[in-house]
Amino acid sequence: MVPAVSLAPSALPRPGQYVGGEWRNASGAGQETVLDPATGAPLGAVPNAGPADVAAAVAAARAASDAGGWAEATPRARSEALYRLADELSGMVARLLDVVVAETGCPVRLARSQQVELPLRHLEYWAEAARRPELTGRAPVVTPRPGGPATLGAWAVRREPYGVVAAITPYNFPLLENVMKLGPALAAGNTVVLKPSPYTPYSALLLAEAAERAGLPAGVLNVVTGGAEVGAALTRDARVDLVSFTGSDAVGAHILAAAAPRLTKVLLELGGKSALLVCADADLELAARIGARNITTHAGQGCVLATRHLVHASVLPEYLDRLAAAVTAVRVGPPRDPATGMGPLIRPAAVERVAGYVAGAVRDGAGVLTGGSAPTEPTGGFYYRPTVLTGVGNDWPVAREEIFGPVGVVIGFGSEDEAVALANDSAYGLAGHVVSRDAGRAFQLAGRLRTGTVDINGGPGYTNPDVPFGGRGRSGLGRENGAEGLDEYTQLKTIKFHGG
Ligand code: NAD
Repeated sequence: MVPAVSLAPSALPRPGQYVGGEWRNASGAGQETVLDPATGAPLGAVPNAGPADVAAAVAAARAASDAGGWAEATPRARSEALYRLADELSGMVARLLDVVVAETGCPVRLARSQQVELPLRHLEYWAEAARRPELTGRAPVVTPRPGGPATLGAWAVRREPYGVVAAITPYNFPLLENVMKLGPALAAGNTVVLKPSPYTPYSALLLAEAAERAGLPAGVLNVVTGGAEVGAALTRDARVDLVSFTGSDAVGAHILAAAAPRLTKVLLELGGKSALLVCADADLELAARIGARNITTHAGQGCVLATRHLVHASVLPEYLDRLAAAVTAVRVGPPRDPATGMGPLIRPAAVERVAGYVAGAVRDGAGVLTGGSAPTEPTGGFYYRPTVLTGVGNDWPVAREEIFGPVGVVIGFGSEDEAVALANDSAYGLAGHVVSRDAGRAFQLAGRLRTGTVDINGGPGYTNPDVPFGGRGRSGLGRENGAEGLDEYTQLKTIKFHGG
């Protein structure tokens, strides 16, 4: 029996391609059936863009960029357009929440704040940032003229948009990831072709609806739907000036290689295997809460989540007791139930991947402190119980590879040097966590972790729009958010004057 669809079909956006300010039917082969991960039921079908759609979207973005209207608009005009977009989205909050919960399976409790309110905050941040002056004055200097009187010279340093940005995004926080790309790209004067994950196309199509109603000029924001082929076509297109990608390191490597022949700039926000360092002096109740949150948030489908818990040997037994209690207290259930703390994974293949990692670790001798199987309830959806593994080496696949599911491993350490060495012994370098009652010591430890971000005692718990975010190693290239994130979408030009 096919379980009931959890969302009114009228809430879904039209499954078209938004190109040059108009909606067109996709010309590609096949379509993606979008599933509700909580029930396994189809929500609808979204046709795949074909090469002609991708070419048309890039052409529209190229034309809008080359015409100069958007790039050369006053910062105030761009800012006002982005505020109008934010206002449109604010008027759609209930629908956005419905759609995002349906397509991601994210519990409504988390989705309201992180999947809807946070992206709106990010968009307003970029609307404001668009007002940043594009000219950076430099003090005039006296330039000596050989053999003659001194001449006054000066220069202006201008920030210019790249042109056409291809934005390719993952499924886990779709609206946030989409806004984190189009916000700075548009604020800086670029035009955008957005390709969301085929699992979560609806929130991107709602964004296009909002852009249309907000009166964004034609071609400034375009949305095409489909999978790897559509993304690959965007990365190969010579008319694209910058590819901004968030997703797995494997696909990130493909994109970097695909962009290499044309030396197209690439921004990569990739996966992680972040460490949570629990010091001997940590508040263990706090540490266990943070630990449980990092295993269960959105069923472990978060790039920054700390899934390697490195714990001082003196507090390891107590940490394990408290972590087991905190993890088992998280209620696994349907995303729309406000009491649900953890929902499903995105697709059956993700459940199989998680189960495969756990089975491999158990075969190698790991202990299962909690979880280790799919729950008996709810049925129909793609659920797996939050799982804590012990007796694991830092060189095991479960400690080295991104599982992207609700699985954490706990490993003991004897000294802080050992903890830092274990934390840094990873191909990734996205985030890290330190839990200690000594803020100064935690700060020093944070400085020794080779990652883009470190949270002390839990940090603020969300991705701030105003501070840089990104990773090292296989976690990516470049930074999102903040002034540095905006700069990634601009190029510098120096214009020099002769004083006469
Ligand atoms: P994914 O890499 O499988 O897919 C991401 C996007 O790339 C999708 O839109 C997909 O259709 C597209 N794609 C796939 N192959 C492509 C190709 N060859 N060329 C161009 N595009 C292609 O990632 P996912 O499974 O959707 O998301 C999970 C991953 O995203 C995890 O690794 C997670 O850590 C990462 N992520 C990173 C961040 C960050 O900011 N660092 C944030 C969220 C998610």
